[in-house]
Amino acid sequence: MKLIFASHNKNKTKEIAAIFQGFAEVSSLEDIGFFEEIAETGSTLEENADIKATAVYNTTSLSCFADDTGLLVEALGGAPGVYSARFAGPERSAEANNHKLLQDLVQTENRSAKFVTIICMIVAGEKHFFKGELEGRIAMEYSGSNGFGYDPIFIPNGFAKSLAEMSLEEKNAISHRAKAFMKMLDFLKGKS
Ligand code: IMP
Repeated sequence: MKLIFASHNKNKTKEIAAIFQGFAEVSSLEDIGFFEEIAETGSTLEENADIKATAVYNTTSLSCFADDTGLLVEALGGAPGVYSARFAGPERSAEANNHKLLQDLVQTENRSAKFVTIICMIVAGEKHFFKGELEGRIAMEYSGSNGFGYDPIFIPNGFAKSLAEMSLEEKNAISHRAKAFMKMLDFLKGKS
């Protein structure tokens, strides 16, 4: 089976191709010569994943999928959510985002938060959604240098360290993204 991942991110495509290895061949947008930027104009993670998958499907008619992830902080009513990449501004700086989040929560005792990944997959013209979550809390300060985004300030439930203090294997065993992609893989295996 061949699947197009509606992303320009080569590293992410590699990671995901590894999950599907032996079952499906995953190509990035660059691999198929799709260089257009797809604007993420949705107001929910579902909408953004849908917009990206639909844009690729409408252009190529190939089976494809897109993901969108957000960090939802309970005390902030679910923010930054769909705006996680741009929380501190359009420059999408992880450092500025983390700094802003720690500042916004400086007086806040409730540090509960979760990562949510939504995948929209279109196969044989049918649309399917898959969801993965990782619950935890926002730390009081940064720790660790692995990973990316909010990893240095996110401590998963059941752990005493941040995601940025974990190896990639440790993170992949529990992460929102891995859970969502395993659901998608199980679904496809059930159909094959
Ligand atoms: P995307 O939808 O995967 O591009 O994720 C949107 C934003 O959410 C990223 O720019 C990061 O700020 C944040 N994010 C997504 N996944 C993770 C993660 O696994 N760890 C930390 N931050 C993440």
